[in-house]
Amino acid sequence: MRNVWRAVAAFVMAASGAFGGGAAGPGSSTTAPATGFGWPLQPKPAVLRGFEPPPQPWAAGHRGVDLSATVGQPVLAAGAGTVSFSGVIAGRGVLAIQHADGRRTTYEPVTDRDPKGTVESRGDRLGSVEAGTHCGSQPCLHWGLLVGPDEYRDPLKLVEVRRVRLLPLG
Ligand SMILES: [Zn+2]
Repeated sequence: MRNVWRAVAAFVMAASGAFGGGAAGPGSSTTAPATGFGWPLQPKPAVLRGFEPPPQPWAAGHRGVDLSATVGQPVLAAGAGTVSFSGVIAGRGVLAIQHADGRRTTYEPVTDRDPKGTVESRGDRLGSVEAGTHCGSQPCLHWGLLVGPDEYRDPLKLVEVRRVRLLPLG
């Protein structure tokens, strides 16, 4: 839960910073600017559950974020890249995009998926949100970010910086 609130606080700060008109805010040097990425759902979704890295590699955690969605809602490419995986894992449709900078974003559950090898631009429709139970009775999209073969990161880092730079009044 703490991570959820930290993420919410970050968004509030990012949004209010935009109104201050400062282009180079303090603290921006601690994270690499995330250019060319956006939300995988439009309009901007609510974050139902934040990123919770496991305390140990083998322990349970939450390796991504859950975004509020509706069944059948278009799932959009968070950034330009190529579909590196499109298939079903444990009964859930999963799609992954390999980006040019070496990062991968993952999306689930997704149906009507674009096939592996599809070249996507940011905002392209990858498929549709599938019904699932990951967020209880509330449909959601689990969105993940990986660096290297299996290092999970917080995907909200992709959109926090961009939101200030490109969507000051969003
Ligand atoms: Zn999740």
